[in-house]
Amino acid sequence: MRAGKKIQDWVITFLCGEDVLPIVEYLKGKENISEFIIAEDLKLDLNVMRNQLYRLQKHNFLTFKRKKDKKKGWYIYYWTLNLSDIPFLYRKIKNEELSRLVLRLEREKASNFFSCNNSCMRLSFEQSMEFNFSCPECGSIMNQVSNDHIISDLEEKIDKLEHEIQDFNERYMQPQLEKQKQKPEAGKPAPKKKMPKPEAKPKAKPKKAAIAKKKPKSALGAKKTRKKPSKQAKPKKKLEKSKPKKKSPKTPKTNTKPKPKKGKKH
Ligand SMILES: [Zn+2]
Repeated sequence: MRAGKKIQDWVITFLCGEDVLPIVEYLKGKENISEFIIAEDLKLDLNVMRNQLYRLQKHNFLTFKRKKDKKKGWYIYYWTLNLSDIPFLYRKIKNEELSRLVLRLEREKASNFFSCNNSCMRLSFEQSMEFNFSCPECGSIMNQVSNDHIISDLEEKIDKLEHEIQDFNERYMQPQLEKQKQKPEAGKPAPKKKMPKPEAKPKAKPKKAAIAKKKPKSALGAKKTRKKPSKQAKPKKKLEKSKPKKKSPKTPKTNTKPKPKKGKKH
């Protein structure tokens, strides 16, 4: 499966920097290209280019073969592009972004915030207490400030991101997963029936928005975050592991996330 070029470029830029894109373009459709040829064709300084190759290789966007140059006695590296992980990486990055936003939203909902009239800084209740509710910057008294706009802003971003991820999953991931699952009877695309999703499709926006307000998939998100330190590990595997979680994003088993405040009973 191939993600679109826009997604490809976005992921590669996100992980390796924009400057590697010319090499990526250059290597498309080629195999085992000597680094000297790359440098020559792209008119790149050898060290600059090696640094770019290194960054690409670090994220498994390149594979290489090395051969000993018999005359000169050193190794020459031959590079081949590998973009097969792009969709998984894209989903991983987006999911991490999502869990980051969900955590922030939870923090915003869980605390009251205080600021002085000059808006020097915004502190949580606990922090403000440490300063006896006088602004550490200007010394004036700190009052509680509303964070409603921050909350609604975050909810909006989360909702948008969830749709983005879901749209991506439906376009790229689901067909792929289906293919893997039913290898014997390939060519039978029935993705929607086999993988019932609790979430509505993007079409059903209003319904989804209401759900997102409460608990946006943070079970899925929170787990992913924990894996962050092992960024080096093979992304593909990791992501595939998370498949089952996808099916029940609305049923967190842990209490990573407090129930949203209900307010009073009616
Ligand atoms: Zn102040």
